[in-house]
Amino acid sequence: MNLSEKILDSGVVGAGGGGFPTHVKASSKVEFLLANGAECEPLIHKDYEIMLNFPSEIVSGMELMLSATGSKHGYFGIKLKNEKAIDRIEPLLKGKNISLTGLGDFYPSGDEYELVYEATKRLIPAGGIPLNVGCVVNNVETFYNIYKASKGESVTQKFLCVTGAVKKPSSFFTPVGTSFRELIAFAGGTTTSDFGIFVGGVMMGSLTFDLDEVVTKTTAGLIILPKNHYLIQRKNQPEHNWHRIGKSACDQCSYCTEFCPRYLLGYDVQPHKVMRSLGFTKTGEAVWNQMAELCCACGLCTLYACPEDLFPKEACDRAKVEMRKSGTKYIQQKPVIVHPMKNGRRVPLKQLINKLRLKEYDYHTPYTSASPDPASVKIMLKQHAGQPSKAIVKTGQHVSLGERIASVPDDSLGANIHSSIEGMVTEVTDTFIRIKH
Ligand code: SF4
Ligand code: SF4
Repeated sequence: MNLSEKILDSGVVGAGGGGFPTHVKASSKVEFLLANGAECEPLIHKDYEIMLNFPSEIVSGMELMLSATGSKHGYFGIKLKNEKAIDRIEPLLKGKNISLTGLGDFYPSGDEYELVYEATKRLIPAGGIPLNVGCVVNNVETFYNIYKASKGESVTQKFLCVTGAVKKPSSFFTPVGTSFRELIAFAGGTTTSDFGIFVGGVMMGSLTFDLDEVVTKTTAGLIILPKNHYLIQRKNQPEHNWHRIGKSACDQCSYCTEFCPRYLLGYDVQPHKVMRSLGFTKTGEAVWNQMAELCCACGLCTLYACPEDLFPKEACDRAKVEMRKSGTKYIQQKPVIVHPMKNGRRVPLKQLINKLRLKEYDYHTPYTSASPDPASVKIMLKQHAGQPSKAIVKTGQHVSLGERIASVPDDSLGANIHSSIEGMVTEVTDTFIRIKH
């Protein structure tokens, strides 16, 4: 098997949150390969911890991908503030045709468009992907999984951090399918009785109150916050409230656009114009919706820029849905030219954390080699971009750790799924497989 086939076999997908099946990237031919170790979501430090503790696996995974993609050079993107991780990674790059790309501590320096520009000075065409400018980007944990796949090991564990209002903020591996309840217990339990859980981050992640939700191959971490925290109060409003308030209170100051990282890179994203669509329910809406097409949903406009605490990011989300429904696509005509104020308007992470009222939760999440040992796991059949996987096991069947339990449907984009514990299949549905020890 070549590397792409091994990766497909092992079910590797983008571990940074995107979940794009990695075998597709491994079979492309590009000029540059980038490792994304930027990790800019406030409070999430799992990439830092995996770089600190598993540097040689990550760099080996990168070397394997360099050769599979025929890349002439690799760039390892990492924040300059993460000196300890740099000390572990940098010596391993010597003589390997990979250089370190030191990044500032800004949000969102991990956006692929940003990272590709920082490393190569190439601008991805509007609406395009890194491949369009000869690049492939993978999260550092994905490189770890690529290395494991090359040794025949499937993705059965997820590296993540649990932090916020918990007694022992930490980073660790856990079986895919572990419930949030068990993750929180493993992190010592909560320090508050009434709480919400941000999954994957407060900026781009989702909010849940359901402890029975489970870890997937893309879960970067859980941030537990008291239910009365500002961020939960904001996020937990009904959607119609976001848009109703925005319709009447937006004064078109355009700060949301002026701070938008995609706008500053030269893309035609203008959330203040999208906000106008909230007031044009009969005509004109479609015109303003177009200005959301290239939004990467980083959340900066809603959670940092808007002085009125409105929801321009959510207006962009809504606009994108409307555009998809109507089958329209906005194609930027003007050339992509970096805004002259880009560097001056970048948002330091510390400033963002203060604004989000998270300073008191800004902990280290040290790696622990122990792992939760759940009595049962619920393994979702859709944990990746593309089509859901198809179960190939039946209720009552015994499965071993790492055994394939679901496969990519023929000729579609997707990823194989493997059992994360040894045990008995107790439930198979269209959306998940449950396995008990
Ligand atoms: S920053 Fe807020 S008030 Fe200003 S234009 Fe954007 S949404 Fe409206
Ligand atoms: S969420 Fe807001 S700031 Fe981020 S890319 Fe979209 S419009 Fe720009």
